[in-house]
Amino acid sequence: MEKKLAARDRFNIHQTAYSLQQGVIMCNDKVVIPKQSQKRILNELHLGHFGVIKMKHLARRICWWPGIDRDIENITKNCVQCNDTRNNPRKVETHSWEPTTTVFDRVHIDYAGPFLNHYFLVLVDSFSKWPEVRIVKNTSAKTTIEKCREIFSTFSIPRLLVMDNGTNFRSHEFLLFLKENGITPKFTAPYNPSTNGQAERFVQVLKVGLRKNLERKIPTFDNIHFALQQLLLSYRTTVHTSTNESPAEKMFSRNIRTRLDLILPTKPQIHVHVNGNIKTRVFKEGERVQCRNYVGRNKWCAGKVIRRLGKLHYEIALDDGRIWKRHINQVQKIGNDTSNERDELEFDYTTPDNTQTVQREQEEQNLPTVQQEVPEILERHMRNCGPPQRYGKVYVH
Ligand SMILES: [Zn+2]
Repeated sequence: MEKKLAARDRFNIHQTAYSLQQGVIMCNDKVVIPKQSQKRILNELHLGHFGVIKMKHLARRICWWPGIDRDIENITKNCVQCNDTRNNPRKVETHSWEPTTTVFDRVHIDYAGPFLNHYFLVLVDSFSKWPEVRIVKNTSAKTTIEKCREIFSTFSIPRLLVMDNGTNFRSHEFLLFLKENGITPKFTAPYNPSTNGQAERFVQVLKVGLRKNLERKIPTFDNIHFALQQLLLSYRTTVHTSTNESPAEKMFSRNIRTRLDLILPTKPQIHVHVNGNIKTRVFKEGERVQCRNYVGRNKWCAGKVIRRLGKLHYEIALDDGRIWKRHINQVQKIGNDTSNERDELEFDYTTPDNTQTVQREQEEQNLPTVQQEVPEILERHMRNCGPPQRYGKVYVH
């Protein structure tokens, strides 16, 4: 006689946790990975070789299958690189730094290498743990300044820069660069590199990760660069044990998209009709306007609207008698008494601009969408769109 099992015993999970979204089976908010894809996903999670804790964190954000924790433990237990990282007991920092409250307030800098015939400039932000790495040919003050300038122009000029006593960091040139940008240098005690623990720790991650990712490849510049970017993406999107958030979340208040996100169900795309709800300017017949002129010194020629052609084009009689066709973006309202003081006889009947306008207009009659016009709402958005407040204005001299 067949034994009847309760539904929750059969799958060892509450059936209510499952749902189907866009054809993808979900368990709560995680994608259920079918047996045949589990190995592939496991390898993707293992890319950075960050050990069992980080791998589990990464998986929990996105996917699940029965026994996923056991599979993660097994893969890391049998991986030399993961074991290497695990076996290094965390060094006690001899210097405890003040906790930072903003991104790029205090930044730790160090050089790694020569490793695989290259040097690596490593910068770690103490607040977000976001690492930046540049592959360089030498470690001179000039190179260091050049790379720092690149990084600071993206993220912000830091307030404090922590570094060791390397001659490049101690050089007059580098110290002047820091002074000019208002950065306070902090040097670690000689022969005690663990004071600069944040940079030092990432250097270890970098060495292990690169070696593993390059295992079967020739260490050419291209291959090293590829392996480095892969490692950085994994590290930046994986939870950092000291902050319980990924460097990307701390840095941008959002997670950045990775290949793992491809397994999530696709959200239906929202199509925004560019001109749907946006009020387009309308000119009345006889209204006094000026239109854009593309030849000669005068940018504008005054005239009157004869009629509206289609949705966005107008026929305009200029004060000098010429008749022009213009797109609405090339027309401005002016006062009734404005005269065409800069009158100059410049005929542009055959200018490419005019032909284009007519062509565009013909196209528009068939296709009611607008290709050229930037909707006012977007224009407004673009004007207001600056860098996030916390970066402030960045001038790197
Ligand atoms: Zn590993």
